[in-house]
Amino acid sequence: KITLFWHRRDLRTDDNHGLYRALTEKENVLPLFIFDRNILDELEDRADRRVTFIHDALSEIKETYENNGGSIIVKYGTPEDIFPEILSEYNVEAVYTNRDYEPYAKDRDENIGQICKDKNVEFKTFKDHVIFEKDEVVKKDGGWYSVFSPYKRMWFNTLKGNEFDTYWSSKNLDKLYRSDPLDMPSLKDMGFERKDDHIPSSRVDDELLKNYSDKRDIPSVRGTSRLSVHLRFGTVSIRKMAKKGKALSGSWLNELIWRDFYQMILHFNPQIVTTSFRPEYDKINWRNNEEEFEKWCKGETGYPIVDAGMRELNETGFMHNRVRMIVASFLTKHLLVHWTWGEQYFAKKLIDYELASNNGGWQWAAGSGCDAAPYFRVFNPELQTKKFDPDLKYINKWVPEFQELDYQQKRIVEHKFARERALETYKSTLK
Ligand code: FAD
Repeated sequence: KITLFWHRRDLRTDDNHGLYRALTEKENVLPLFIFDRNILDELEDRADRRVTFIHDALSEIKETYENNGGSIIVKYGTPEDIFPEILSEYNVEAVYTNRDYEPYAKDRDENIGQICKDKNVEFKTFKDHVIFEKDEVVKKDGGWYSVFSPYKRMWFNTLKGNEFDTYWSSKNLDKLYRSDPLDMPSLKDMGFERKDDHIPSSRVDDELLKNYSDKRDIPSVRGTSRLSVHLRFGTVSIRKMAKKGKALSGSWLNELIWRDFYQMILHFNPQIVTTSFRPEYDKINWRNNEEEFEKWCKGETGYPIVDAGMRELNETGFMHNRVRMIVASFLTKHLLVHWTWGEQYFAKKLIDYELASNNGGWQWAAGSGCDAAPYFRVFNPELQTKKFDPDLKYINKWVPEFQELDYQQKRIVEHKFARERALETYKSTLK
């Protein structure tokens, strides 16, 4: 009898909770990954950088498993088709996996759990993606927090001290099911092309963390960890990172707590995937002008800091956090486009796209979120530039033509006018 360990957003063999539990509680553990067509078929870009990232990460863990006498089943299809096939091919005792809090994933796991139950196969899930999940950090009356500061206080109060302990999964690989190397579909087999990017290292420098609070807001310097893609796909362990944060930088740990917070908010509020956390924001008279939206996407608004951010995103799949805030404010306030448009664009382009954090960030910028910037806070792109890109290094890198007169004249809308229009439009609905 074998036990399947199903990898999803935990593409590592080291300090992996569900994998550790499978290896220590069961014998003959056979790992599995499914390139899920329910997700992949929605991707417009056949050279999507995330598919390459996942494929590379899987090749690495496959090698680790094979060096230890095991292998990994890698399939392309939908979990609801693949599972019955595997359950009839192998004599499966249990399926172990780590929890995922997105609405699609929760439905999927319920379905697969049922398929397993019908076949008398145990289906067990574990916490791995966050430090505290769902209802672990809640108010005294059991209600969830909609404001970050009290959530964060309770997050610290809830810490017992063992939350950052390592699960020594990689030390128990002798429990793998002995197998010859199994085939893995190539990107081409799945209709994708390789997208070679410079992927930031999954290690973080202690010095960087010590200087984080001083440098984190300057997009022209390497002041942030660039771990987002690794935390998204689980190529690093959140426990290891939170432990480092606690030792070296409170302000960095604070960001990791925001990540837990948004996962919790999404868990309790799955409706926010398509609607505002504060539903009255959906009644605002959004302009939703398609031409202006296109210009924003391409980085052709005539505002150098906005255009630099969008061009960085289009070119690399990444954008610095400060600039994410500026471009999101610009779209939802200066151009009065509903936040879901921007959120969807980021979802297509970001290599670190994480539904909970992206949704949280967008709704924060639009004012419609749980603990959001107030609607009357409209970022002034020029002031933001003076503060955070004073020597124009970041702008120069992405918009080298920014000083040409022609460029300056192409401003999509005038700041003062746009600010007043935004305030009036928001005010008239929100009262
Ligand atoms: P660091 O500053 O080094 O932070 C460390 C880690 O903390 C990050 O890797 C990330 O996992 C987490 N983190 C940091 N800031 C936040 C935050 N505000 N909310 C939640 N987690 C945070 N982050 C994503 O991971 N995926 C997204 O799709 C995403 N979309 C965003 C959209 C908007 C409009 C905004 C304003 C923010 C968004 N963020 C998103 C949060 C943040 O911009 C990125 O996490 C950060 O820029 C990644 O760079 P880093 O790894 O160097 O971060």
